[in-house]
Amino acid sequence: MTNPFDLTGRVALITGSSRGIGLALAGALGEAGAHVVLNARSADALDVAADRLRGEGLTVDVRAADVTDADAVEGMIDSIEADVGPIEILVNNAGMQDRTPVLDFPVDRFRTLLELNLVAPFVVAQAAARRMVGRGRGKIINIGSVQSELGRPTIVPYTASKGGLNLLTRGLCADLGPHGIQVNTLAPGYFATELTEELVDDDEFSAWVASRTPAGRWGRVEELGGAVVFLASDASSFVNGQTLFVDGGMTAVV
Ligand code: NDP
Repeated sequence: MTNPFDLTGRVALITGSSRGIGLALAGALGEAGAHVVLNARSADALDVAADRLRGEGLTVDVRAADVTDADAVEGMIDSIEADVGPIEILVNNAGMQDRTPVLDFPVDRFRTLLELNLVAPFVVAQAAARRMVGRGRGKIINIGSVQSELGRPTIVPYTASKGGLNLLTRGLCADLGPHGIQVNTLAPGYFATELTEELVDDDEFSAWVASRTPAGRWGRVEELGGAVVFLASDASSFVNGQTLFVDGGMTAVV
């Protein structure tokens, strides 16, 4: 019997995957058999991450590129398709946080955040989908957040970007679904990474996360693996335009 979660030989590009959630997602896809391509701006960090995954027996390539640079994205997609193989799975994971109360939030910082969290996923998805359409198949997974649905003080631009990303998923589903492409959002709750380091170290905030989450704790990045493999594989062949929260129940309760 074939395993619908098997990704053997499929090329998967994960943006922002030199550390944190992106690296964990890449590891999970690689464990399921995918040939993973790691991306980030720092080539050194990518080499360290790739060595780690190769040490676990995974097949890994790296492409250093800034996903907010459309020309660099086009070059990256071209070179992967030419040298690694057709991209079957794209995970738009690169993202940033910026915390300041709204009355003081400078608009130029809002624009910088939007470029990475919302415009870049569009640009990378567009470049990848142009190739996927001709092949009649492909999986695009956008990494959202509980802030794709819920607001929180001091992070208005992040919330707007992740809410926008949720609807970017649905819009892409409308345009690309007829071409055999599935586009979904994977929305993590609170996970300990460099992005959330300050919050993890803040006892009051950590206590709030524990009390607000039915699971009673922060998530561990490896707990996102099952969901990304599901969304990247044939197991989700009729799942399109959806948001899958992996948040210990946070968005299910008030
Ligand atoms: P990290 O800050 O730990 O990692 C970010 C990664 O993105 C790094 O590999 C970084 O490498 C890369 N990156 C940053 N800017 C760019 C760029 N312009 N081009 C290419 N790569 C870039 O973040 P997390 O792992 O915590 O978060 C990953 C995603 O998950 C984000 O979209 C975030 O919003 C989302 N998320 C995180 C949650 C959490 O609790 N941590 C919760 C919900 C969602 P480099 O700096 O070398 O480019």
